[in-house]
Amino acid sequence: MLISGKELANEVKDQVRERVEKLKETYGREPHLVLILVGDDPASRTYVAGKYNDANSVGFRVTRLHLSAATTEKDLLALIDRLNGDLTTDAILVQLPLPDHINEQKIINSINPHKDVDGFHPENIAALWQRREGYVPCTPRGIIRMLDWKGIEIDGKHAVVVGRGNIVGLPVSKLLLDRNATVTLTHSRTPDLGSLTRQADILIVAAGSIGLIHGDMIKPGAIVIDVGINRNPETGKLCGDVIFEECEKVAGMITPVPGGVGPMTKACLLENTVECFIDNENRNRNSSMMTI
Ligand code: NAD
Repeated sequence: MLISGKELANEVKDQVRERVEKLKETYGREPHLVLILVGDDPASRTYVAGKYNDANSVGFRVTRLHLSAATTEKDLLALIDRLNGDLTTDAILVQLPLPDHINEQKIINSINPHKDVDGFHPENIAALWQRREGYVPCTPRGIIRMLDWKGIEIDGKHAVVVGRGNIVGLPVSKLLLDRNATVTLTHSRTPDLGSLTRQADILIVAAGSIGLIHGDMIKPGAIVIDVGINRNPETGKLCGDVIFEECEKVAGMITPVPGGVGPMTKACLLENTVECFIDNENRNRNSSMMTI
């Protein structure tokens, strides 16, 4: 039983495309997403190209800025500052990781939280943990969407999350807690990982470690969400953290890699962009009323 993130992502894209048409009628313009890529990391180039194509396909205005790897932190901060102040820029995404000479956290902190479409700014993280309104990071949001789409009950279930990264593990744990799951959050220092993963009704693996989860680490019938993106050194193909061939025989439902969480991450980026747009339009209107 596959959970096809690709199929759901196509549904989400259709919904966003329809919404953009209506937004254009109401506001006279389409949402504007700015994608910033610094350097030439091949994986980052691929991610940005995918985001660009998706955003174009739903009718957004998309600006792709490709800066050289030698770009200074100061110049990048100045660019973000300009975009923060630009009334027609709704959403700003800086593709991570950044070159070593740029302080990543400083860059994240510099993005206007209302335009922080990735939901990485401390204000948005705080909003998530305090159950206030804010932007939820795209991958965790996409995971919950997939569970809901498949009618998988979260309330009262035991969810085990492997990996406590800021982008996936930590925020998805919080979203699961908010939906009344009992959550066990594990990481690289967790002894005997299998003894915990075998208890999971819902297992979410976001470690970035190829071949980490074997078939005998899964409770029969469990829901397995494989977030990992790795490249198999032998075949060169993309694969997750879960040994798919072993785990699909035991799991009740499982996401493939590719075609699982990845497409939903990009789809949720589109939804977050629409939310940034509406937020920006409302703020622009309020400030022009104050000026009058
Ligand atoms: P991260 O480096 O921030 O976190 C990784 C976490 O995994 C850490 O908490 C670490 O302790 C844990 N970990 C590593 N090895 C482990 C092991 N052997 N046992 C238990 N825990 C272990 O990474 P991240 O940003 O959270 O990303 C995790 C993975 O998810 C990566 O493969 C990344 O490429 C992928 N990812 C995929 C998407 C998507 O859209 N599919 C989005 C974001 C990240």
